[in-house]
Amino acid sequence: MIIVLKKDVTQEQVQHIIGKVESVGLTVHVSQGVERTIIGAIGEEEILRSLPLDALPGVEKVMPILKPYKLVSREFKPDNTVIKFANNTEIGNKKIAIVAGPCAVESRDSLLKIARLVKEAGANFLRGGAFKPRTSPYTFQGLGEEGLKYLAQARQETGMMIVTELMDPRDLDLICAYADIIQIGARNMQNFKLLTEVGKQKKPVLLKRGLSSTIKELLMSAEYIMAQGNYNVILCERGIRTFEDFTRNTLDISAVPVIKSLSHLPIVIDPSHAAGKWALVPALSKAAIAAGADGLLIEVHDNPENALSDGAQSLLPEKFKALLQDLAKIAQAVGREI
Ligand code: PEP
Ligand code: MN
Repeated sequence: MIIVLKKDVTQEQVQHIIGKVESVGLTVHVSQGVERTIIGAIGEEEILRSLPLDALPGVEKVMPILKPYKLVSREFKPDNTVIKFANNTEIGNKKIAIVAGPCAVESRDSLLKIARLVKEAGANFLRGGAFKPRTSPYTFQGLGEEGLKYLAQARQETGMMIVTELMDPRDLDLICAYADIIQIGARNMQNFKLLTEVGKQKKPVLLKRGLSSTIKELLMSAEYIMAQGNYNVILCERGIRTFEDFTRNTLDISAVPVIKSLSHLPIVIDPSHAAGKWALVPALSKAAIAAGADGLLIEVHDNPENALSDGAQSLLPEKFKALLQDLAKIAQAVGREI
C-alpha cells in the first residue's frame, strides 16, 4: 500500500502515520521525494485495508501497489533514484556513469596500469573481479583478498570508486572493507540469501540481470535488497540467452525504457558480456546511451590476448578512449553528459 502525504504534512503527522502502520505489525519504508513524501506500507494487504489511513491528518491518498514489486516501483518513488559517492560522482543523474576495467584483477601492475588508462580516458568507476564466477572450476578463480587490496590501491591512486563482485555471503564483510559498490553477478541474481545479506548493509549494490531472467524477476530481486532497507540498488542489463549464438548473449536494449517506466532505480548496460566480442561493444554502448541508460560497464584490458578471463570482449584502452569521445556526442543529443 502506498500512502501519499500532503505537501504541508508535519513531522509529527508523519510519525503518527508511521506509528499506526507499525502498530499492526507492518513494515514502513519512507520515500522522500522532491515534491512529496510517500510511505510504503508493506505486509498483509488485508490488515492494511482495515486501518482508516485515509482519515489520518496529513494523508492525501492511499493506493494499493498492484505490482509484485513495491519499493522498486515508480509508484513508491516517482523521482529517479540518484546514488552519490564519496568522490562526488553519482549514478542516476544527468552525468552518465562509466564503469571500466578488466574482467578480473590479475596482478597489481596490470590493474594499476589499466586503472590509470581508463581514468585518463574518462571513467569514474573501476571494475575488476577478485572472486570470479567461472563456468569451469579449473579456470582462474580470482585473486581473492589480494585482488581487493590492489583495487583499493588503484582507488587511492586514481580516485575512482571500486566495483567488485560478491559471490558468497561469508565474504560480505571482506568485500565491504574494500569496495564502493558490491556487484551481484548474473548467476547469483536469484541467490536470495545473498540478496538479503547485501540488503542488510548500506553499500550500493549493482545487480546484474540473470542469464535467463525476465525484467520482472530482476525487479523482484532488487525488491529483496530494498526490503531489507538498502535502497542503493543499480540494475544492470548484461544480455540474456536467446537462440542467437553469433553473440555471447543478446543485449535487451528495451530493458532500459521498460525499467525506466516501471522503476525509479538507475539502469546501466554491460555491452561487454552481452556481445562477447570487443568489436561490437562500441555500437551497443552507443545504443545504450541513446536509449537512456544511466551508465555503462565496459571491460578494458591492455593485453586482451593474454587476459585470464574475457579477453575476447575486452576493449583496448585506446579504443575505449575513442569510444568515450563518440559517446559524449550521443549523450549530449539525449540531454545527458559523459
Ligand atoms: C563480470 O562482470 O565480470 C561478470 C562475470 O558478469 P556476469 O555476471 O554478467 O556474467
Ligand atoms: Mn567478465
